[in-house]
Amino acid sequence: MVQTPTTPCALRLTSVQLLSKLLPIYRHKEELILAVKDSTFLAVTGETGSGKTTQLPKYLHQAGFCKDGKIGITQPRRVAAITVAQRVAQEMQCTLGREVGYQVRFDDCTSQSTVVKYMTDGCLLREILADPVLSQYSVVILDEVHERSLNTDILLGLLKKMFSDSAKAIKGRSFPLKVVVMSATLEADKLSAFLSDCPVFTIPGRTFPVTSTFGFAVGPKDIESAGYLKEVVKVALDVHTSEMAGDILVFLTGKLELKRACDLLYEKRPTVEGLLILPLYGSMPTDQQRQIFQPPPSGIRKCVVATNIAATSLTINGIKYIIDSGFVKQLNHNSRVGMDILEVVPISKSESEQRAGRAGRTSAGKCFRIYTKEFWEKSMPEYTVPEIQRTSLTAVILTLKCLGVHDVIRFPYLDCPEERFILEALKQLYQFDAIDRRGRVTQLGKLMVEFPLHPGLTRAVLKAASLGCHDLLLPLAAMLSVENIFIRPGHPEKQKEADTIHRALAAKTGSMNDFATLLSVFQLCKSSDRPSAWCKDHWIHWRALKSAFSVETQLREILLRLQQVQQDFPVDTFDGDKSELFRRCLCTGYFTNVARRSVGKVFCTMDGHGSMVHLHPSSSLFDQEGKLNWIIFHDVLVTSRMYVRTACPIRYEWVKDLLPKLHEVDVYELSSVAREEVTDEEMIQWETREAAKRQPGHLGMKL
Ligand code: ADP
Ligand code: MG
Repeated sequence: MVQTPTTPCALRLTSVQLLSKLLPIYRHKEELILAVKDSTFLAVTGETGSGKTTQLPKYLHQAGFCKDGKIGITQPRRVAAITVAQRVAQEMQCTLGREVGYQVRFDDCTSQSTVVKYMTDGCLLREILADPVLSQYSVVILDEVHERSLNTDILLGLLKKMFSDSAKAIKGRSFPLKVVVMSATLEADKLSAFLSDCPVFTIPGRTFPVTSTFGFAVGPKDIESAGYLKEVVKVALDVHTSEMAGDILVFLTGKLELKRACDLLYEKRPTVEGLLILPLYGSMPTDQQRQIFQPPPSGIRKCVVATNIAATSLTINGIKYIIDSGFVKQLNHNSRVGMDILEVVPISKSESEQRAGRAGRTSAGKCFRIYTKEFWEKSMPEYTVPEIQRTSLTAVILTLKCLGVHDVIRFPYLDCPEERFILEALKQLYQFDAIDRRGRVTQLGKLMVEFPLHPGLTRAVLKAASLGCHDLLLPLAAMLSVENIFIRPGHPEKQKEADTIHRALAAKTGSMNDFATLLSVFQLCKSSDRPSAWCKDHWIHWRALKSAFSVETQLREILLRLQQVQQDFPVDTFDGDKSELFRRCLCTGYFTNVARRSVGKVFCTMDGHGSMVHLHPSSSLFDQEGKLNWIIFHDVLVTSRMYVRTACPIRYEWVKDLLPKLHEVDVYELSSVAREEVTDEEMIQWETREAAKRQPGHLGMKL
């Protein structure tokens, strides 16, 4: 028998490369390369799935753009950065992490030889901090700009500023920097106008008609009832049994909901043959994500149950039917609690069109909307509000300040955030001592910006470091940075068993303290001989713990580096017990999240909003409210009530000196500070007023 020289692997690679030549972008390869060569800024638009993300970096690499520097491509979502890098590495026939790599928060898969680097927009923002002219890059591609993520919007402004007339720094580079912004929808004109009327390259693409029908499940109230999910599942099964071949894509809101829907579908599976059910969400393991892209075996219909991630960032071939729940989980700033909260909200009309469009890439498709026409008309906004106009700006404002952008109000924003959001961020930075009264970054602020964590948590870590007890706070910060570690089984009996074991873990710490429980789980698991088995026995997600171990190492490295380079790294002393030390460190970062028990089981926050909050049943403090007086908490969950999760009791004395900071700055002062218009005379007047305010009792309540 004659052996063919082609191995199965090579065959697969050839087909992958062949497929890429069928994408709409392929015919425009040479023109695109020329367009990038000819301009500093270029906007590229084209239908989702036309090949922008996977192909353009590859073309530029082939055209020699990596001769002097790297090609960096940003993504708002970490999953997109990872899966796309995998795909491109496969197409370019190289090992992931070599020529083609990715970097997302706490996961760096690049090496010295990486020249095509996919990364989250947050990572590029951190790189700019260390290297403001991005001297290692020859091309920077901001992708998915239409998603209008906070970090991408800030990067847009920074890149625009980098090239502005007065910015001499960019001229000091040894080779030119090209900037490409890519967007799926028609915001191209706005982008072009923003970037000095740069050329727009439109990739023509054919889309097929999608017929959309409205359903009967209505209104936002239904989202909390089981009926809504049942309707989604029913429609999916109807499509499977009565529609012709073609895969299904279901849009739901979050991981738990996805799991429930998949379980409901599995239950029906014996009666409905030939349906391959695949969940798709941001934090799922990479090998499972890969499965999503594979075509199903012949005669089998694929049903991908996804979060909004499948709306634009990832394109799955073969989708013909969309089932749209009409909702999305979105991070919104909640002015009632003064914090960002993940909320389930109706999608916008433009988002519903985008979701439907996913069914018409290769042939005509159908979109089944679960919601009524009335809901679409009355409850869905026209467009999705950009993240910069709805989330906390604290971290990015600190980054901007560290980059020397003092006037954060007049920074070039594509869409300006409300001034009160900027002021709130400044206020918080001031409260954390990251900026001074004149809005200048403090020594502490410079340390804080180095950590990819919420400023409050960073402050607690730095306090612990100054007291030499960072071994307590680094693991905790890591545990708070990974997904939920506690497994919640669906079966009621198993749930009971898991609850008992989790309660025992909390009791082991000897105190009611959810933060200490997280620390203790980290330590117990780490010191165990067989950590994965330990997790299994204790109903803990091993994968989450593994990430926490890696995150802790990375945070430790950042801290060590800072301690080495900063001669005047703060040093403090303390001689109380360990539990007190731990909680006192937490207080320095979480004093903005202090609540005092008012009546019964109700707590009142002390941040000036005076919100009424309850302890969440998952907290080890739950049902112990009678013993509590003051608490701090990590986050808030808003349903019919406001719940605080991950909490611990504290003593008023520990926050007494910090709480006045929550009230001492008012908006007027900060707005003048932000604009750098404050005179010395005004400053003296202000400080006198502030000193008067700091007299006991100014909180307006008896403590
Ligand atoms: P765009 O950025 O224009 O939306 P992409 O470059 O993301 O388009 O997608 C082009 C094609 O590459 C699509 O057909 C998509 O299914 C495919 N693709 C992207 N990532 C993967 C992957 N990880 N595995 C398999 N196919 C992929
Ligand atoms: Mg894309």
